[in-house]
Amino acid sequence: MAKLVGKNKQKDRRKKEKIKASRKRSHIMKLRSQILTFDDLDVSAKSQNVIKGEDISFISKMKSILWSTETGAGLAASQIGILKRVCVVMPDRENRQIITMINPVIMEMGEEKEIKTEGCLSYPDVYGPVERSKKILVMYYTEDWVCKEVNLRGLFARIVQHETDHFDGVCEVQKFHHPVKLLGFQNSRILF
Ligand SMILES: [Zn+2]
Repeated sequence: MAKLVGKNKQKDRRKKEKIKASRKRSHIMKLRSQILTFDDLDVSAKSQNVIKGEDISFISKMKSILWSTETGAGLAASQIGILKRVCVVMPDRENRQIITMINPVIMEMGEEKEIKTEGCLSYPDVYGPVERSKKILVMYYTEDWVCKEVNLRGLFARIVQHETDHFDGVCEVQKFHHPVKLLGFQNSRILF
């Protein structure tokens, strides 16, 4: 009898775990579905600066959405239909830190450029080589409205250049050196 009770408990636990996992999956899918793709996204629409004191509660949703993507490294507010110059950036998914940039302005673009493959969360499965500055100096406001000026390089600099393009109604596909379409590599590439 004791064994049977134990087995039933195990079954019960497995069932609960399955339900929990399926709820988590559907929650993640729901978050990801909020990213507008090229069909619904007005890529040429320009975003406006946030004014101090304005409601920025949408940022927490942006963070959850970015986190819900498997390889996302950055998300602009316009990608979820909010035409504000706000982006959330996660240059290193392993340390799980998401940086919020409000009204970022690239003050200096390094002269040294490099061409690397880019993808965009709004253009699933489309990747191409884009030339960007290796280093930039960017000024932005934090969520507590602290003004920061930072030097960025490498992937971090590239993501910020990509997101500020989104604010200006420019998408990286317009910047491709040689348009390429790769299918099936979505999970192995970083998207922003
Ligand atoms: Zn993008």
